[in-house]
Amino acid sequence: MDEHSEQQQYDVVVVGSGGGALTGAALAARAGLSVVVVEKTALLGGTSAYSGGACWLPGSQVQQRAGLPDSTEGARAYLSAILDDPTGPATAAKLDAFLTHAPELVAALEDDPDLDFEWLPFPEYYDAPGRVPMGRSIQPVSIKRDALPAPVAELVRPPVELDRAGAPGRRTLTGGQALIARLAVVALREGAHVLTRHTMTELLVEDDRAVGVHCTTPDGAPVELLARRGVLIAAGGFEGNAALRARHDVPGEVAWSMAPRGTNLGEPMTAAVELSAATDFSALGWFCPGLEQPDGGGSFTLGFRSGVMLDAAGSRYANESLPYDRFGRAMAAHPGAIPSWFVFDSREGGRLPGIAMPEGDPAEHLAAGTWVQSDTLAGLASATGLPAAALEASVRRYNGFCATGVDEDFGRGADEYDTFFTGGEGPNKALTPVDVPPYYAARFVLSDLGTKGGLLTDDAGRVLREDGSSIAGLYAASNSTASMFGSVYPGPGAPLGSAMVFASLAVRDMLSSPGAAGVA
Ligand SMILES: Cc1cc2nc3c(=O)[nH]c(=O)nc-3n(C[C@H](O)[C@H](O)[C@H](O)COP(=O)(O)OP(=O)(O)OC[C@H]3O[C@@H](n4cnc5c(N)ncnc54)[C@H](O)[C@@H]3O)c2cc1C
Repeated sequence: MDEHSEQQQYDVVVVGSGGGALTGAALAARAGLSVVVVEKTALLGGTSAYSGGACWLPGSQVQQRAGLPDSTEGARAYLSAILDDPTGPATAAKLDAFLTHAPELVAALEDDPDLDFEWLPFPEYYDAPGRVPMGRSIQPVSIKRDALPAPVAELVRPPVELDRAGAPGRRTLTGGQALIARLAVVALREGAHVLTRHTMTELLVEDDRAVGVHCTTPDGAPVELLARRGVLIAAGGFEGNAALRARHDVPGEVAWSMAPRGTNLGEPMTAAVELSAATDFSALGWFCPGLEQPDGGGSFTLGFRSGVMLDAAGSRYANESLPYDRFGRAMAAHPGAIPSWFVFDSREGGRLPGIAMPEGDPAEHLAAGTWVQSDTLAGLASATGLPAAALEASVRRYNGFCATGVDEDFGRGADEYDTFFTGGEGPNKALTPVDVPPYYAARFVLSDLGTKGGLLTDDAGRVLREDGSSIAGLYAASNSTASMFGSVYPGPGAPLGSAMVFASLAVRDMLSSPGAAGVA
């Protein structure tokens, strides 16, 4: 790894090391450009390394190999049906670029001996025209750590449950770690430099053009990295920055967010704004229910197999089996839902009947009061402070729905997503009763997988000014940008898929642009 403090010159400076950033770095390096990746932490991958590695990249050769009824036009129909404003000026051109380029990107990546993908059966998040049964997401093929070059094996951020406990990663890298590892292998193989522990703080500007970045090292040493072709900002959102969250009305809290601790404070976005970049801060994140942890953190939770989520009045307020972002938005919109209490029973031996990353130790939860336990529902009510009559009525009514197989209040189990994670034996697999004492309640907050608002970019990933012109030399992708999907999370892998496509388009644009005269 380079650790020089003098000025260095490259064709491309990539800020961040998530899935979008490393896609850009790998493709640029493979195209013969000199590349540096700037990462503020000691590890590569950010939230992308925590992820499942699902990539929503429709219409590619991977879906074709799997024999799926997927196509670019099917994906277009699906997005047209679900997006807030698919034909609006902010979305239409990007939508087209995304759909057109996704299969090209997958083909280009799979052209590389170190990059392989496979279909990931995981239902899309809306029942809408164009939806593919069991989804159209793809994921990188897992890889053994000992098959990786040493720098990559050492640098990939471990899965969230290990990373938050300070533990190293596993011997086999799956999901997001496989994505980060494979992209890093390509980038390094093609000569890209990686500067970890370098925080980008400012953009270097000449004649209104971004010509590089200013970074600092942990000991405060300044480093200037010049970019002949362009700077690609793909450095997460601002989920880790309480002041920016408050300024842009993003519900939830830093501690409940899933980004690695201390990362994604939004410095690169702020630097671009100082250079007159336009933004759209949507007050949104990629939301999810967050199991509150004894240390005050939140854990991304999905796939509830039983149990009910109750608000402060002791009432259900949404289908608990909704795709997590839709449940999160319901939580954010419903008064008295933060925090909520998730009431479940002992049928899974006192473990949460859902997938929480990380779940934590039930005994520690009980000791900390983030979970409570009682032999009776009335006891649960007094331990949580919820009104006993309402809590008992909610559970009784839900158990009645479990018997008939129809959730008359919220339609739980009516969609294929609802039953993807469940194995219930009643008439509706998503409706398993709460009737095995002792009972538990776990406190839930609103978590997110990153914020969704940020820099406005065009269909080539160029950062725009308010007047619609692009800032020469400046590109952005990932959660550093305003999501093309608006308020919607179309399906598994939408954050990574869109980040990868626009990072790739940015590199394509850099390759066709003349570059900066001043640093040529
Ligand atoms: C458990 C879990 C599972 C998920 N599963 C999926 C999934 O399967 N598919 C999917 O699409 N999404 C998934 N997500 C969401 C997805 O991981 C994130 O939304 C996405 O990876 C964010 O990518 P990013 O590049 O914007 O940010 P990150 O991946 O967080 O990368 C940003 C990087 O930039 C660095 N950085 C920040 N500021 C600076 C700076 N000033 N200078 C230098 N470096 C900086 C950070 O340290 C970080 O390493 C999941 C999230 C979680 C938590």
